[in-house]
Amino acid sequence: MERESLLTLLMLMLGGMVLQIFAAWPHRRVVLSWARQLERRRWLALWAPIVPALCVVAWLCGWALSQPDPVPYHVDRLIFILCVPFVAIGLRALFRAIWSLWRSPVDYAIATVGVLRPRVVIAPALAEALDRRAYEAAMAHENAHLRHRDPLRIWLAQFVTDLQWPWRSAQRRYSSWLAALENARDDEARASGIDGADLAAAVLGSLRFQMANSGAHATLTGETPSLPARIERLLRPLPESSQPREMPWSVVVGSLCLVLLLALGLGAAWGARLIAPLVALGGGY
Ligand SMILES: [Zn+2]
Repeated sequence: MERESLLTLLMLMLGGMVLQIFAAWPHRRVVLSWARQLERRRWLALWAPIVPALCVVAWLCGWALSQPDPVPYHVDRLIFILCVPFVAIGLRALFRAIWSLWRSPVDYAIATVGVLRPRVVIAPALAEALDRRAYEAAMAHENAHLRHRDPLRIWLAQFVTDLQWPWRSAQRRYSSWLAALENARDDEARASGIDGADLAAAVLGSLRFQMANSGAHATLTGETPSLPARIERLLRPLPESSQPREMPWSVVVGSLCLVLLLALGLGAAWGARLIAPLVALGGGY
């Protein structure tokens, strides 16, 4: 059989299985006083189930590098059948990601829209309805979304959550990250001199203009269930102590690359010992 064809089948089957197992991991509710730190932790939690699946993919790539082309295996239809659910989940995630790009920004009262070229949109009626201080507070919040390219991050987060469908724990991780994201942007706006009460007034004022909030857009109101806690938080003073130091992103990404390289090496060295019985188990030879 052609080496790349078998590699693709095994990546779909084993990568999909491992992703599903880790996606089912229960969502742990972490509470931290620094919204930005919490947002980062929850962002990492969103992606954590992907890491073991990526290790499996790297391990399989290592195995493929050590194999001749074509490989001396033939796979039975059972392996094809086992791949079907994971292909369906992947296609569903892809379709939803593409669909969310087509969503019209006119649906929003105020939001940061645009995955590649983010910009702030505000309904003229809302701009007139808000007083000057509330308007400035809303714009400071949206500009914080703009600085962090949040529409792109939300779009990626939705995609990675959809890859973990149908687990509710994955959806919970996504919802709690969105809530932490809104709090982090509120804090950033307030750190620039915006009053929390003005921002709370802007959030409540824009609520009646707000429509469905799914899609790759960073809105002012965020998810409705987390709103009461958010308003209460806006009316409390910001934490005074300095923000704790977090591990730099370069260290996080570097560590991931090292783990993937290790998996690649293990696959090249010992992958064949596991792949041959696995293919035989699937009815092949
Ligand atoms: Zn927002």
